[in-house]
Amino acid sequence: MRILLVEDEPRIAGDIATTLRAAGYVVETARDGEEAWFRGDTEDYDLVVLDLGLPRMDGLAVLRRWRAAGRAMPVLVLTARGAWAERVEGIDAGADDYLPKPFRMEELAARVRALIRRSVGLACPVIAAGRLSLDTSRMRISRDGVPVALSPLEYRLVAYLMHHKGRVVAVGELLEHLYGDDDAREANALEATVARLRRKLGADAILTRRGFGYAIAGEPA
Ligand code: CA
Repeated sequence: MRILLVEDEPRIAGDIATTLRAAGYVVETARDGEEAWFRGDTEDYDLVVLDLGLPRMDGLAVLRRWRAAGRAMPVLVLTARGAWAERVEGIDAGADDYLPKPFRMEELAARVRALIRRSVGLACPVIAAGRLSLDTSRMRISRDGVPVALSPLEYRLVAYLMHHKGRVVAVGELLEHLYGDDDAREANALEATVARLRRKLGADAILTRRGFGYAIAGEPA
């Protein structure tokens, strides 16, 4: 899962990025409204964390432009404490949730998990597919109820496929959502990761659709 973090205060941005990376997400950051708008308009993100007070273009204007252009990714806005009018404006501009500053990083991570789940139509924090289950709040993947140890990249790959169970995910889409913009995105590396996952989760856990992509097993795709 790939998240765009828009926050102009370096210390807060650093804390949020650290929290979200530890929670298994790839995080890209934007420091001002114009950069945020451009990235959100041209790249696919699973979620955006958007501070409202930004240089060059304020967060509400950025959000309104995304929504007017049909960009539908979930957006969590960060607002000033007690600024209820700002929260109402944010939600009316198309935000899915808000968090007043200062906030606990645990709460941010929980809201992010829930918003991403909801955006793909899943209400339950535990996602089941075939013999696998993903406990999103604990970042734990189990097969037949037994937890399996995975590397961060392996986890991101299975978690993405499970969030999109019932559909074949194209290789290009996977590469875009599993790696940051600084990482080399290579289909070969993806194939090697899938091979390792099959050894850990069972040969039948991930289906290959030749020349197109991958799907999690156990669901009609
Ligand atoms: Ca700010």
